[in-house]
Amino acid sequence: MNFLTRFAPSPTGPLHLGHAYSALLAHDMALAEGGGFLLRVEDIDQSRSRLQWEEQIYQDLTWLGLQWPQPVIRQSDRLPRYRQALEMLAAMGLVYPCRCKRADIDAAAGAPQEGVPRFGPDGRIYPGTCRDRPLGDAGPDDALRLDMQKAIDTGALRSFQETGSTHAGRHALDAEALLTGVGDIILVRRNMGSSYHLSVVVDDADQNITHVTRGEDLFDATQIHVLLQGLLGLPTPVYHHHRLIRDAAGKRLAKRDDARAITLYRQQGASPADIRAMVGM
Ligand code: GLU
Repeated sequence: MNFLTRFAPSPTGPLHLGHAYSALLAHDMALAEGGGFLLRVEDIDQSRSRLQWEEQIYQDLTWLGLQWPQPVIRQSDRLPRYRQALEMLAAMGLVYPCRCKRADIDAAAGAPQEGVPRFGPDGRIYPGTCRDRPLGDAGPDDALRLDMQKAIDTGALRSFQETGSTHAGRHALDAEALLTGVGDIILVRRNMGSSYHLSVVVDDADQNITHVTRGEDLFDATQIHVLLQGLLGLPTPVYHHHRLIRDAAGKRLAKRDDARAITLYRQQGASPADIRAMVGM
């Protein structure tokens, strides 16, 4: 298929208008291209994911008029696959264990009044405290990180095509931006078996996704995903980052914005066409 996209929500709360826009847009794009649309459940964070929310996702999307092929992939079922990818990176000498908690990172990064720690698309930019620890030293409570400098030194930096209007064009990964603006990302979170970045890259490749459609808030994370694709020898899809749906105050919607949950609009008698209108479609 030359156009296959997906909607990949995390079942950690009710879907709101922002999710509806993302799902409808991906679905419409697939339809317009004569391509396919997949649904994937990103429940890698088992401490926050709930079956109840997963059920609600299926109901809301069906009500919106969307269809997707079965079976739906759930990340919690795919930990061995993520492990395989991790082992590839480990065999290349790019992975190290990290025991630092947030407070350790803040302390190592310096005094808050100096404007540090700095944040990148993977959260706090890691100061490298544990970088020299051997992987064999990894304890059960450690996270696993990618050594960004070594990753760059493999020569795996690629470019990617973006079709969303804000960043439309071809973007080449930049070593300096990765080092200073991203840093040593987490590949496996403490007690999680993987991380968002590793899982999403492996899943998009395994599902043969040709076009990744998602919110603009994830644009900066794309350089991480394209780097991992290069390291793992996986294809790089085309990316389409869309505008975010904001509340009246201009703040982007979050899961906790239950007031804009699709279920509530449904209960109040809104139609799927009303939802489309609300998100400017
Ligand atoms: N699971 C992510 C979220 O709900 C989306 C990831 C993606 O589309 O790449 O924000």
